[in-house]
Order: sequence, then C-alpha cells, then structure tokens
Amino acid sequence: MTGTQRAVVLAGPGRAELGTAPAPALDVRPAPGVLPRRCGHGVIVETLATCVCGSDQHTLHDPNATPGMVLGHELTGVVVETGRDVERVKVGDVVAVPFNVACGRCANCRAGLTGHCLTANPARPGATYGMGDGFGGWAGLQAERSLVPYADFNLYVFADPDAARERLLDVALLGDVLPTGYHAALGARVGAGSTVYIAGAGPVGLACAAACRLLGAALVVLGDFNAERLAHAARAGFATVDLSAGDLPDMIAELAGTPLVDAGIDCVGVSDAALAAGRESGRTPVAAALDAVIGVVRHGGAVAVPGVYPAGAPGARPPVGVWLGGLWSRAITLTAGATPARRHMDVLATAVLRGGLDAASVVAATAVPLDEAADAYARFGAGEGRKFVLTP
Ligand SMILES: [Zn+2]
Ligand SMILES: [Zn+2]
Repeated sequence: MTGTQRAVVLAGPGRAELGTAPAPALDVRPAPGVLPRRCGHGVIVETLATCVCGSDQHTLHDPNATPGMVLGHELTGVVVETGRDVERVKVGDVVAVPFNVACGRCANCRAGLTGHCLTANPARPGATYGMGDGFGGWAGLQAERSLVPYADFNLYVFADPDAARERLLDVALLGDVLPTGYHAALGARVGAGSTVYIAGAGPVGLACAAACRLLGAALVVLGDFNAERLAHAARAGFATVDLSAGDLPDMIAELAGTPLVDAGIDCVGVSDAALAAGRESGRTPVAAALDAVIGVVRHGGAVAVPGVYPAGAPGARPPVGVWLGGLWSRAITLTAGATPARRHMDVLATAVLRGGLDAASVVAATAVPLDEAADAYARFGAGEGRKFVLTP
C-alpha cells in the first residue's frame, strides 16, 4: 500500500487531531518523528483498536515532539503484509502489539527486559511507537495501518481470532495498561493476602488493582482526588480513599486496621505542570504521590513505580525530589521503570480470554470512532475517568 492514510497526529503543543500520514511500508521512509530503516522483520497491521494513553499526554506537551507526527503506542489488529524475514506471523493473524519496540536479539531482550532493548533506539536503551526520535523514531500506532518491526518476537498472536474480536475492548488493553498494572503488582511483591495502596485511579491504577486481585490481594485501596474516578473504582469493587478528604495513613487505618500496607504502587508519576513550576521557581518539585505511597508502606514492604519521572542527569539538580529516608528507614524495596510488556502478554491474554479477567469494565474502556480522536484526547486530558479505545 502506498499513499496516505488517516491517523491521529500532533497538531501543535497540547493538541491532537485526525490528520493524514504516510501509509506504512516495510522500507520505512522519513516522516515527522520517524527514522528511516529497512524492516524485512516487520509486518503491516490493519487496526481493529488503538487506545489513547496517559503517556500520549506527555508527548503532546513534549517540546521536542515534531508537529505532524503520528501518536499512539497501543494497537490490536490484523496482519495484512509480512516482511521477507518473518516466519511465525501470517497474513490474517489477529495480533496484540506490546508498546515497547524490542529486537528480541540483544542481551536485555533475551533477559526479558523488553522495555530496555539495546538496539531498537539509537538514542538510548528502550524504544516505543509514536514518541519521536528520542524513543527510537518509530511511527505511532493511532492510524488505519501500522508497521510493527521484529514481528516474530514482538507480536502476541491470538490462537482464536474470533474470540479476540468478540472481546476486542478487553484484548485492546493487552499491549500496555494490563501488563503495566500487572508488572507493578509483581514489582510491589503483591501475593495472596497482601494489602495494597495504589496512588491514582486512572486506567493504569485500575488495571493494577485488577492485577492485584488476580494475584490474590486481600485488600486493594485506590487513592485519587478525582471523584468520578473514585466512584468508578468503587463500582469495580475496590476500596477507595478521597485524598482531598483527609490524612492518608488515617484513612488507610480505617480500611486495613493499621496505617501501613504491605505494598504501595505509584500510578501517578510527576505532572508536566509540577515540572514546569519547578523550572520557573528554581526549586526541585517533590514526588508528592510517591512520597505519600512510601509513607503508608510497612517495614520490609515494597513499592513499585509505573508512573513516569524524567531521567535528569547524574550530578545535576534532580528534576524531582523523592523521600529516600522513608524508604531507607523502613527497608522498603523500590522498583521502577518502563514495563517489559511482551513478558506478561501470554499470561494476561489467557486471564482475559479464559480466566474471566474483566479488564474493559474495570478500566471503563470506551470505544470511540477514530474520526473523534481529538475529542477523546480532550476528554482524557480533562481527567475523564475512561480508557478511550479508537476504532476505524
Ligand atoms: Zn500506553
Ligand atoms: Zn533488544
């Protein structure tokens, strides 16, 4: 296929809109935010569903993002063309795409660290779609068709394509939000009988809560300032705390019988507004959500951080300050970083399709036509408690 296609593009600072972009090809040509490459190991996937993510909001406000670039990194679709080096994936397969681009050949990929592939991004370890040159220069996936490189390694192929199509809103979550929530729950060592506090009741927080339930947690508490998100979390069967209504340890104590839980998970990260305020004032912003999480985790417990924080540079003023003494004094284990999505997709696909994991209803997945993408971005950016799933 040559020519152009409909795609969600960066229209300007903070704005996404439906536009046109080059149709994908196995020989990648330069385009806004895309590095040229040959991809005999790639396939072209026609979109069934492509989701809007909190990470897309960072790209919208990234001063280095290129206007016109295609956004998005969460895709479920049908394979319509395969490169000459692809052996396992066939035309007609229904597939889920992990949000990390991973070569499957480097030391990190072999170790399962697909979020930090050493070759897919010339700038640094770790690559993804739709975030520009700094993330490897791979075109975004919110389009009618997309290139997926290293297809034999990256793609999850549904054994029963009809079942996947029937559960499209659930399986659309396999590329990012479900593995991200699950990886965080594992990182925080959640298991049978665990008590858990999750900061942030957006889609990742909710998916994480569902993962904690899957792993056997006894109590899962979601904290947020957004009343709509909290009401949805309560409807999904989780305990909730309104962070504007009181002191977090007191509210945890009321639910758990003690102010400390076994596991804490920061699904908030630091906001672009807090970083901008820090730059303006010359003062280091504090990691408010993470510090609150650290404050309610018991001695010897664990904290996981799927929320996004800027890298900064060694020796420079840290972009965000974290309460290290809280971690140290209670010997808390901390894990952080981009999720290796591919590692968890097989088990989560089985949990969705055979184990009754009701992912779409937990995260309030809402199908929206691709043509209404700008509206979905605006609603998500305004804090509406839904996971928007774009369908062509
Ligand atoms: Zn995402
Ligand atoms: Zn790799």
